[in-house]
Amino acid sequence: MGCDLQINMLDVMKYHALSFPYVIARRYRRKILVMIREFFLGFIKIHILHHAAREPVYGLWLIEELGRHGYRLSPGTLYPVLHRLEEEKLLRSHSENVGGKIRKYYRTTAKGTKALSQIKDKITELIEEVMV
Ligand SMILES: [Zn+2]
Repeated sequence: MGCDLQINMLDVMKYHALSFPYVIARRYRRKILVMIREFFLGFIKIHILHHAAREPVYGLWLIEELGRHGYRLSPGTLYPVLHRLEEEKLLRSHSENVGGKIRKYYRTTAKGTKALSQIKDKITELIEEVMV
């Protein structure tokens, strides 16, 4: 993954891991950091499926939109995620010529929409359990 996401994770550490008691060994904080990063990558995938289900989206637009949600992503982090989702047939892409430049648009597939709705059910269940 690109280093931007790692920098973002360090910001997260400042908020969370660093507020833990100093007795917590550095290696445990490292594990927490890795765990948070994995969760965030999952959240990012859900955002992508959600937006691409509503309209065709492209890399730069997603970087800006995810930035609005506080996820600072570099293309080097985002594009492998998009490619993985496409490989898993949750997204499909097509290219368009926009002002002389080829832009790749992504849309959520029927399989992706089904996965998203299952994820939403699980998010609802999770929120009801952990946020109440
Ligand atoms: Zn969004």
